[in-house]
Amino acid sequence: MRIAIVGCGQLSRMMAIAGIPLGLQFSFVKDNIGQSNECVEGLGLIQESPEKGGEGYNKQAIEKLYNDLGKPDCVTVEKEQVDLDLLIALADFCPVYPGIEAVKACQHRGEEKQLLANLSIPTSPYFYNTKAVEAVAELGFPVMVKSCTEGYDGKNQWLLKTKQDAEEFDALNVQDYIIEAFVAFDKEISQVSVRSKSGEIKHYALADNHHEKGILIGSITPAVNISEKLIGKAQRHMESLLTELNYVGVLAMECFVLGDDLMVNELAPRVHNSGHWTQLGSITCQFENHVRAILGISLGSTSQVSPTAMLNLIGTELPSFDVLDENSTLYWYNKTVRDNRKLGHINFVANTHEELYQKMSELGDKVSSK
Ligand code: AMP
Repeated sequence: MRIAIVGCGQLSRMMAIAGIPLGLQFSFVKDNIGQSNECVEGLGLIQESPEKGGEGYNKQAIEKLYNDLGKPDCVTVEKEQVDLDLLIALADFCPVYPGIEAVKACQHRGEEKQLLANLSIPTSPYFYNTKAVEAVAELGFPVMVKSCTEGYDGKNQWLLKTKQDAEEFDALNVQDYIIEAFVAFDKEISQVSVRSKSGEIKHYALADNHHEKGILIGSITPAVNISEKLIGKAQRHMESLLTELNYVGVLAMECFVLGDDLMVNELAPRVHNSGHWTQLGSITCQFENHVRAILGISLGSTSQVSPTAMLNLIGTELPSFDVLDENSTLYWYNKTVRDNRKLGHINFVANTHEELYQKMSELGDKVSSK
């Protein structure tokens, strides 16, 4: 069986690396002009997406793409910012997962907020395309402004603390954004779960996530100081999303924790950085489970085998192998080194969280992530 993935980044790479031992074959669609394919080189067929005309995609060109991709059994994505028309055109030839509606909902922060509101899933209060000076009259300071379609890893976001900030933001004439209340959260966690074609849902343990300047630095699992009540809420919210979207594959839900409550900050209709720990810490990793779900193979267990942590390698050279010990593994993405770029990660297990924290700090110093 063959899977085609739209995108050529590290998530595509790790899906393929998880699926190849199952005897699966992979193809990758370069959907952005000039996009590098260094992450997926050697892992399967790589094809460029045809150009889109004024009328959309030419049917023959899409048929050719489908054939050149090796007639995949299904198509999936490694990112939410893909051209929906490309997915719609490919859906004439084979199923597209997690589903076009799911990708669409997660492409746009305004739509995503609306979906969450429709399902009564809490999020920070917000305004859509409203002048900052008006929004702050309701929300108070500070507020976060986020571009609806352009932002990830904290990009295209503005923290407004004063009336002057709000006026300056309004003068920028930014289009299509949300303004949301700044949340004084206790911490950030994520729920990564998977749903099969038959509707079976399995949840991974909650991860404690540590961000700096909007970028995920590391995760520790299972998340600590989390009540059963909160675990239940996260799973119920996830289940209503997966069911509502008739979702197939892995979905990630990033949340703020406030006492025993949570607010959903963001959804990702794909495997997610905060689920990388599952490569070492879970019986079946998120990448394999996504692949199994979209091909209709029974899901693997999401049970955790040990407390596990993940440290991102950001803007740093391939570390010396001396940083590895018997309980850690390195995943290097084969990307050109650039500042602030996610270039790899290290997963490690320990008997206790105390050991994980200690090792996280030691490793952090050694690899000098930026
Ligand atoms: P995002 O791009 O929405 O994932 O945001 C990146 C990071 O910015 C989050 O992981 C938080 O650390 C922080 N952040 C985003 N939205 C808010 C908010 N409304 N209040 C406080 N911090 C936020």
